[in-house]
Amino acid sequence: MPEGHVLHRAARLQGKRFNGQEVAAESPQGRFDDGAAAIDGSVVEGIDARGKHLLYRFDNGLAVHVHLGLFGKFRLQTPPFPEPSPNARLLLSTDDHRMHLAGPTTCELLEPDEIEKVLDNLGPDPIVAPNDGADRFADALSRRTVPIGRALLDQKAIAGLGNVYRSELLFMLGLNPFIPAREVERHLVDQLWKLSVDELRTGEKSGRIITVDPADVDRRRRSDMKRGERLYAYKRQGEPCRRCGTPIASTEIDDRSIWWCPTCQPAPA
Ligand SMILES: [Zn+2]
Repeated sequence: MPEGHVLHRAARLQGKRFNGQEVAAESPQGRFDDGAAAIDGSVVEGIDARGKHLLYRFDNGLAVHVHLGLFGKFRLQTPPFPEPSPNARLLLSTDDHRMHLAGPTTCELLEPDEIEKVLDNLGPDPIVAPNDGADRFADALSRRTVPIGRALLDQKAIAGLGNVYRSELLFMLGLNPFIPAREVERHLVDQLWKLSVDELRTGEKSGRIITVDPADVDRRRRSDMKRGERLYAYKRQGEPCRRCGTPIASTEIDDRSIWWCPTCQPAPA
C-alpha cells in the first residue's frame, strides 16, 4: 500500500498542474458519476495530503477525498489523452493535463463540514506538522499499551506510515518492535518523530523509500545503490543484517508482517 510520501508527492505534482485551474470531471467507470458532476467545471483551490489521504478542494466549497488503498493508482497524462481504463473512477482534466485515478479504496465527495471530520480522525502527519506534531505523537503513544510496532501503523497516532517505514524506522533507531508504545522513552519518541519527518521528506522527493546509508552497503552515494540494497529490514527475513550480520527476523503483529534485527533491536531486559 502506498505510504504517506506517495500521497504528498501526488499532491505536489498534481497541485502544480491543477491548482487555480477550472477542471472537467468525469467518472468513466460510473461509480463516481454524481461526485464528478458536482465538481465538473469548478476551480481547484488546493490539493493536500494528510497521511495516506488526499483531499481536492474546489471553489464551490466541496472536496473530493481519496484513499488509494492497496490497488489505487494516480496517473498524470498529457494530450493526446489515451483512452481511460475501464475502471477509471475519476478523471480531472484541463486542456493541458489529465489526472487519471483508478482502483482507489475511497473516492468520495465531501460537504464543507465533512472535510474537518476526515482530518480530525487523523493523527499528526510528519510532513504537515514537522515541529508541532511531536507532542501529539508522544501523547498518543503514552496512551497506548500495544507494541510500538503496531502503534506506528495507527493513523490516529501518526498519519502516513505504512509497513515499510515502520520496520525501517524501528531498525534505524535500534528499537525493538514489541516494546509497549507507552514504555518507549520520550527521547526515543522524539527521535522516532524526527526520523519520520526526514525519511518521509526524502521519500516524497524521490518517490521511493530508500533508508539505507550507502556506507552500510559499501557504496559512496545513494545513486550507486542497487535495487536490493535500499532497505535494512523490510522483506529481508533470513538475510544478514546490514550492520551486524544477524539474520533478519520476521513475524506478524495483527496479521501484518514486521521485520527486525534481533541483535540491533534487542528486547528490553
Ligand atoms: Zn543487526
